[in-house]
Amino acid sequence: MRTAPTILHLDMDAFFASVEQASKPSLRGKAVIVGGLGPRGVVATCSYEARVFGVHSAMPMAQARRLAPNAAYLVPRFGFYRTISEQVMGLLRALSPLVEPLSLDEAFVDLEAGGAAWDRESARLVGVKLRADIRAVTGLTGSVGLAASKMLAKIASEQAKPDGLVLIEPGTERALLGPMPVRTLPGVGPATGDHLRRAGITTVEEIAEAGEDELVRLLGKAHGHALYAMALAHDDRPVVAERETKSVSVEDTYDVDIHDRLRVGLEVQRLADRCVRRLRGAGLSGRTIVLKVRRYDFSTLTRSETLRGPTDDPAVVREAAARLLESVDTTGGVRLLGVGVSGLADYTQEDLFAQAAGERVEGLAEDVADEPVREEAGPAERRWAAGIDVRHAEYGHGWVQGSGLGRVTVRFETPDSEPGRVRTFRIDDPALEPADPLPLVARRPELQG
Ligand SMILES: [Mg+2]
Repeated sequence: MRTAPTILHLDMDAFFASVEQASKPSLRGKAVIVGGLGPRGVVATCSYEARVFGVHSAMPMAQARRLAPNAAYLVPRFGFYRTISEQVMGLLRALSPLVEPLSLDEAFVDLEAGGAAWDRESARLVGVKLRADIRAVTGLTGSVGLAASKMLAKIASEQAKPDGLVLIEPGTERALLGPMPVRTLPGVGPATGDHLRRAGITTVEEIAEAGEDELVRLLGKAHGHALYAMALAHDDRPVVAERETKSVSVEDTYDVDIHDRLRVGLEVQRLADRCVRRLRGAGLSGRTIVLKVRRYDFSTLTRSETLRGPTDDPAVVREAAARLLESVDTTGGVRLLGVGVSGLADYTQEDLFAQAAGERVEGLAEDVADEPVREEAGPAERRWAAGIDVRHAEYGHGWVQGSGLGRVTVRFETPDSEPGRVRTFRIDDPALEPADPLPLVARRPELQG
C-alpha cells in the first residue's frame, strides 16, 4: 500500500436533488425527492432537507410519500445529470489519467499517477482546489475523501459530507476503522451485517479479532478473506480508468424474427447464462443488468435494472433479465436479443446474502428517452411528468410542477431567477412545449479561454 494519501474519492452531495434545487429556485432549502413516481418507483436521490424525515435513496416511493407528504416529487432528468457529470469528470481527468467513475456523481482518482500530488500537503491542496472548481463550473458541491487506499478514501468522503473534505493520515487507518460498525466496510450490506451480528461481531475491530479462519467459516472463502483484509485496512485495489463504461454482454441476431413470446423468454434466459459465464470467466461481477431488444422494424430498445450490489449469480441475472423483458412489447417479432452486465466490480460482492434474497433497486433506467418513468397518469399527461422543463410562448421557461385531470401546472423560473410563479394550463395548450434544461451556471464570456 502507498504511504501518502493520494487516492481521492469524490462524491457529489445529493447529486440529482442538488441539480434540481439549482435549476429550480423555489425548491432551494426544501425537501426534494427524485425517482420513479409510478407505483413501483423507488427514490433515486433526495435532498438533505428530505433526509430529515427519514427518506433515503432506494426507499420505495410510496414509503417516502408517507414520510414526507409535502416534499417536491420529481422524475429524474438523466440527460441533464449526465451533462453535468461530464463537466465534473472532465475536472477529474485534468488531474490524472487514472479516474475510475463509480456512477454519474462518484469517482476515484489516483493523484500520484497524474503527478498532481505526492504527499499529504499536495494532496490536500488538490482536494481543496477541486471542490472550488466544481462549484465554479457546476454551481454544486461535492465532498472529497483522501487516503492511501480506495476503501479509506471512500470512507473519508462519507465523513466529509456534505460539502467537506476529510484526509485520513496513513498509519491511522486501523485505529479509525476499529470502532466503526461492520457496515462501514465495502461488501457488508444489511444481510451480511445481520449474519456477523449473530456471530457476535458488530465492529470492524471485532472482525479483526475474530481472525481470518472464523470469517471464512462464517462467510465463505472469498468473502471472508476479503473482509478480514479490509478490517486490517489492507486494500491494494488500484484505481482503474473508465471502469464504469465497460460491460460484459452477449447478443444474438436471428435469421428469422422470433414471434413466440415463450421462445423470446427462453432465448433471454440462455443469453443471461452465457453472459454470466463470460462475467465469471473474467473474474468480475456487476450491478446493472441490461436487456437489449431489436424489433422487426429495427427499433432498438434497452432496458436496465440496477441491483443493490454486484452479482455474478446466474439466477439473479436471469430473473432481472426476465423482469426487464416484461416491459417490452415483442408482438411484431424480434430480430436481435442481448443481455449485458455493467457497473463492474472485481472485489468482494456488495452483499451476497441480500442479493440471493432478491433485494434490488428497481426502475432506474439508464436512458429516460427510452424508458419513460412509469406514471399513474394517462398517456396524454405523461408528457408533462413532474420536474421536466417546458417553455411557454408568453411566459418563458419553467418546469412542470404537476399534472392531472387535463391540466398541467407550471412554475416559471430559471436557475438565476427569483423563485417563480405558478400557472395552470390545459394539457393540450398549444403555447406550451417541452424544452431543454438551462445551464446551472450562466456562461460569462469574459471568463472563458
Ligand atoms: Mg453522491
